[in-house]
Amino acid sequence: MLTIYRRHRKACKQRFDGRAYRRCLCPIWVDGSLNGVEIRKSLRLRDWQRAQDLVRQWEAQGQRVEKPKPLTVKEACEKFVADAEARNLREPTLYKYRLLFRQLQDFAVLHGLPCLTDFDLDWMRRFRASWKNKNISARKKLEAFRAFFRFVHESGWIPTNPASHLKPPKITEPPTAPFTREEVASILNACDIYPDKANALRLRALVFLLRYSGLRIRDAITLSRIVSRTINFSCTQRRQGPRFIVRSLHSL
Ligand SMILES: [Zn+2]
Repeated sequence: MLTIYRRHRKACKQRFDGRAYRRCLCPIWVDGSLNGVEIRKSLRLRDWQRAQDLVRQWEAQGQRVEKPKPLTVKEACEKFVADAEARNLREPTLYKYRLLFRQLQDFAVLHGLPCLTDFDLDWMRRFRASWKNKNISARKKLEAFRAFFRFVHESGWIPTNPASHLKPPKITEPPTAPFTREEVASILNACDIYPDKANALRLRALVFLLRYSGLRIRDAITLSRIVSRTINFSCTQRRQGPRFIVRSLHSL
C-alpha cells in the first residue's frame, strides 16, 4: 500500500499541518511498501492527480515505473535528420531542415524550452513570428516545421500535435505580369538568331506554345506530340494574374 503526501517546504504556510494538508504546491512524495519493498521518495511531481495516477500504476504493475524522460528538442532534431538521411532526401532538402532546426534549437535555448513537450501551440506561434521569411518561403518553412512535428507525434514523443493547428501564412506576392508585346518580339528574335537552326525552330515553337497555352514550362516541354495536337488546354492560372484560355492548339 502506497500513500502520497506533500513534503512541505520551509516557506510553506501549511507546513505545520503536515501530511494532512495537500492543497499547496509543495513536492509530492510517496511512502509505503510495494511488493514488500519499502519506498519513501519524491515523485518529482506537484500535480496531485498525476502523482495519484503514477502511484496507482506502480501498484497495478507491482513495481515502480519511472516516468519516461521527455525527449529534448535537440535529440528530436537529430533523430529527424538521421531518418531523412536514411530516406535519401536530397541535399537541398536536408539543408533546409538543418537550417530550421538550428533556429528551433536557438529559440528553445533562448526561451528555456528544452523539451519537445514544452512547445505548445502558443510557443509554436511565437517561434513562427520570429521568422524573417515571407510568402512562399514562409509557407515552405511552415511545411518543414509541420513535417518535423508530424514525425515527432507519430513517433509517440508528444501526446498531441499542436503544429497541425498552425495556419499557413497569407501570400501577398505581386501578380506575375505577362510579357509586353516588345518583350515577346525580342524573345522570338532571339530564337531566330540561335546558331543551331534545328533547335532555333524548336525554341520558336516552344515559345509559341508557352505564349498561347499558358502552360508551365515543365508541362510544355513534357507534352507529347499527339496530346499537343488534339487537346484543348486551359492554362495555369498565374497567381492572381491574367488568365488565358486556349480553345485549341489547332488554332496556332
Ligand atoms: Zn506545502
